[in-house]
Amino acid sequence: MQIKNDALSLILDASDKKTLEEIKLQFLGRSGKLTLALKDITKVPLDRRAEVGKLANEVKESVEEAIDRQEGMLQHKTMQTKRQTLDVTNPGITPPHGHLHLITQAIQEITSIFEKIGFTRVRYPEIDWDYYAFTALNFPANHPARDDWETFFTKEDTDSEKGQIVLTPHTSNGQVREMERAVADSKKTGQPVSIRMLNIAKCYRRQSDVSHTQMFHQFEGLVVGENISIVHLKGVLDYFVKSYFGENRTSRIRPYHFQFTEPSFEIDVTCGVCLGKGCKLCKAGWLEMGGAGMVHPNVLKYGGIDTKKYTGFAFGWGVERVLMMKEGIEIDDLRLLYSNKLEFLEQF
Ligand SMILES: [Zn+2]
Repeated sequence: MQIKNDALSLILDASDKKTLEEIKLQFLGRSGKLTLALKDITKVPLDRRAEVGKLANEVKESVEEAIDRQEGMLQHKTMQTKRQTLDVTNPGITPPHGHLHLITQAIQEITSIFEKIGFTRVRYPEIDWDYYAFTALNFPANHPARDDWETFFTKEDTDSEKGQIVLTPHTSNGQVREMERAVADSKKTGQPVSIRMLNIAKCYRRQSDVSHTQMFHQFEGLVVGENISIVHLKGVLDYFVKSYFGENRTSRIRPYHFQFTEPSFEIDVTCGVCLGKGCKLCKAGWLEMGGAGMVHPNVLKYGGIDTKKYTGFAFGWGVERVLMMKEGIEIDDLRLLYSNKLEFLEQF
């Protein structure tokens, strides 16, 4: 009984959790006073053992109860103190603020530039038949781009008429698909064929180095109508260069060869660092942006378009490429864009 009184008065006096924990050990621990006393019951004569045992257990229970009660009280006290010191007028904790990925930002900017001159952004498959990716774009069967080392071909899902399924190596697969759509529309409405397409999508090629990733983005423009000429192409190109890179930048077209345009051009933009004077970053003041040209009559024919009545131009440029060429953005390794490294992405 003495033990019980000692324990209870100590428990009631405990003013913090640590002291209470020490008292618990002192009485109920492995070599605690109460634990040892309970063990000693075996020494009590048999005729009194049951009675003493019952009493001892009651003592143990009441000590445990007292500890629990005191613990609850201490906790309640702590909560009250905390509540008293809580200042609800303090500003809250601001959650971290993210932003759109650099490429998403570029895609949005490019889209809004072209929408202002009447282009409509469309979405065509990023996994498509060989027919739309090559055949309908005037690529002969033995063209190197159709090599397994350039393009990702899938082995299954072959279609007898449209060939194998490929991961699109360019956004140009949207050209003939858009022509088919426009021709069907024109037949339905009786209006002339009219296309001002902007197709932005993921493309895939077997490449990986500081300036190439296996997956990248292209934006493809296609304009088809009556009397469309190179003058229109150059006008759209200049408009884009000034809108995206800045008023002080200019463009030029150079003869080149592509399968699906005739004539074909490489497009250059003046270097953002030297503005055309020439520096170690550029080729005599110019940076290469990508290809363009007048749509090849064979491609128009694949799209079901009357080549006597209509002409068109097309261009396909890399989103990553124009982003890197933009003033103020220098990325040494393109692969960083897709590495999910926050310390890199948060800079923009
Ligand atoms: Zn330069």
